Amino acid sequence: MEICSGCGKKSLMVERYGQVRLCKVCALKVLTPTWKHKEYRTNEEVERQKEKVRMMAEKSGFMPQAIEGLERYFDHLRIEGLVKKLDGGKGQKLVLCEKECMMETTDDFNFKEAEKAYRKIQSGHRGGGTPLDEIINSQMAIGILSEVVGSALPGGGLVKNQIKRAGRNLAAQTISGKLMDETEQRTEVRSLAYCIRTGERRAEYSQYDRIQYIEPVGEETYGFLLLQNSRRLDDPAEDVIFFFDSSTETKKEANQAYGFIKSRLADPMEEEGEEELPPQQTAGNTLAEEILMYKRLLDLGAITQEEYDAKKKQLLNL
Ligand SMILES: [Zn+2]
Repeated sequence: MEICSGCGKKSLMVERYGQVRLCKVCALKVLTPTWKHKEYRTNEEVERQKEKVRMMAEKSGFMPQAIEGLERYFDHLRIEGLVKKLDGGKGQKLVLCEKECMMETTDDFNFKEAEKAYRKIQSGHRGGGTPLDEIINSQMAIGILSEVVGSALPGGGLVKNQIKRAGRNLAAQTISGKLMDETEQRTEVRSLAYCIRTGERRAEYSQYDRIQYIEPVGEETYGFLLLQNSRRLDDPAEDVIFFFDSSTETKKEANQAYGFIKSRLADPMEEEGEEELPPQQTAGNTLAEEILMYKRLLDLGAITQEEYDAKKKQLLNL
């Protein structure tokens, strides 16, 4: 037997909402079946529901502690800085907050299907075709160079003149070694299992500087948001991928999420103490970029290992 917080009577079966216990009769008076399993997408929704319940509880003459307790129950449902929750319809949920996002991957997520769709889109073998240069850009080169010289900035194009000159040969050698390593692990590196795991994943916007929004076209049922750090493009475990379905509403929401995240990514231009160089004038960049382009083509199966090796040798003057 427990005491109902609403009416004060003893009850065999109570429902619990935080510290509040409600008997069947009181539970129905505040319509708990309509909100006890509800998922809220914004804090405003939580607030609206809280207000409704408060009014019903007052009308039903609940004891003041019960009313306060119910309010606290709803306060706990709020997420600090929550902007929006988004269900992509493909087994992943995205919670957008002011400074970070949280991605939940459930057991319903179909790795095999998602990976198939992902590869198809990334390789450009799809309806409209994704231009390769969206994937291969100078930031990839900067990413590698930055590890070599330890001084490039996120976003690319910003390498100190001096370091650039001194580092070019070193960069070439290191890139060559890095690509070898990568080639050996190729099959693993390409797998989504690397960056998507069942459960929750938190990503602070300040740790990323790049986001792609790929919408499903034609028959495609998967679209995705790809969040990356241009300094760590060689480490797929750093990537955050959120898949969404092809319904009009989901696409719209995913696109809004894209716009929101993009506006909060790290801005490389705000870094201090470095001078800016147009990427084309940086010999090291162009070289690394070109090698990476061939590496990508190799991964995509567009060229053979032999063709790639020959091209790399030629580019590095080996
Ligand atoms: Zn009661």
